[in-house]
Parts: sequence; structure tokens; C-alpha cells
Amino acid sequence: MKIVGLTGGIGSGKSTIAKWFLELGIPVYNADLEAKKLMNENEKIIAELTELFGEEVYQNGIYNRKLVSSKVFQDKELLHQLNQIVHPEVFKHFQNWVENQASDFVVKEAAILFESGSYKDCDLVVSVVADEEIRIKRVLKRDEISEEQIRQRINNQWTDTQRIEKSDFVIENNSNLEDLKIKFDQLYKKLLKRFRSS
Ligand code: ATP
Repeated sequence: MKIVGLTGGIGSGKSTIAKWFLELGIPVYNADLEAKKLMNENEKIIAELTELFGEEVYQNGIYNRKLVSSKVFQDKELLHQLNQIVHPEVFKHFQNWVENQASDFVVKEAAILFESGSYKDCDLVVSVVADEEIRIKRVLKRDEISEEQIRQRINNQWTDTQRIEKSDFVIENNSNLEDLKIKFDQLYKKLLKRFRSS
């Protein structure tokens, strides 16, 4: 099974593209969503996070994202430790999911595909890039989040320049959704050509 990694910074448009893959019948694994689920359900993760952050990391059995976010945003080493706990379990879960898919290829959507190192397990990586100010405006419109929080997240993610360097395909999403769809259709054709003939 071929694995296409799909990544991009906050508000770049990767979920929009993931949705279009799904509409064409391509299975999509949303790593961010699955990681969130595993943080509430996986006993190994729960035990290790409790050890790292203390009992208050789970309140009534529910992962306290706000508390952890406030701690790791200031502390890159702690963020690294958090990732070291979560990513191996997400990886196992993903492997298991892949085994149950029937398709020419699957898509792994992850905001931190590069940062987590999981791009190495992909056959090919697609990055969606867009100017920071455009991304911030989109996220402010979509979520209840402050501009400062968005900028903090951006600071903890790779830059587009870093992503571009390591990507096989780059989709620029500074224009409207119609333009993005045209670029997606072109990408999809290329992926089919590449993976159907291999
Ligand atoms: P995150 O990592 O924050 O989840 P994302 O990369 O998945 O972000 P999307 O959710 O796809 O990004 O896009 C962010 C928001 O911007 C969404 O509300 C989406 O509908 C909108 N959007 C994406 N691309 C465009 C575009 N070209 N024109 C207008 N709005 C767009």
C-alpha cells in the first residue's frame, strides 16, 4: 500500500484537500484527530503523560489539552517529550489502519508530519502552503482562537520553506477554493498515474 503524506501549517488548507481525496474514495487517516482519541483511550499514553505532567493532565478521565498546551508552548524540550510518548502509538495505530484499507494509495493527513518524523514512512509527501497572514485570517474566521495563539502554534511548526524542501509536491493555496480545486485535480491525476503503474 502506498502512503501519501499530506501536511501544511495551521490554516493552510490540508483538511480541505483531505476532504476531496475522501470524496474520490481515497482513504484518509487524520493523524491529529486519531492522536487526540488515543490520548484519551490508550493506556500506555495515559500512564506516561500522567507521569510527565502530573495527575491533573486528566480531569475526570479527559485529557486536559489546554493545560498541556500552556506548558509545552513555552518549552520545546517538553513538547519533544510529549511527542515521543504520543507518536509511536499513533504510528502503530496507523499501521493497523493501513492494513485494513483497499485502495491504490492512502493519505495520511498530519499537521506535524515533518516535525514528528512520520514523513519518513510515506512514499511521497504533499505540502499545502499559504502566506502566514492569509492562514491567520482563515483560522480566525474558522475557530474561536486568538491571533496570538495561532502565532504561537506557527512558531512551533516548521516553516513553509522547510516543508517545501522535503516535499515531492507543493500546492500553493493563496487564492480561492476554485483555484485550489483545480490544483488538487491535477495532483490527483499525477498520483493515480504514479501509483497505478507501479
Ligand atoms: P488546521 O491545521 O488548522 O486544521 P488546515 O490546514 O486543515 O488547518 P483547512 O481547515 O483546510 O486548513 O482550511 C482553513 C480554513 O480556511 C477552513 O475554514 C477552510 O474552509 C478555509 N480555506 C481553505 N482554503 C481556502 C481558500 N483557498 N479560500 C478560502 N478559504 C479557504
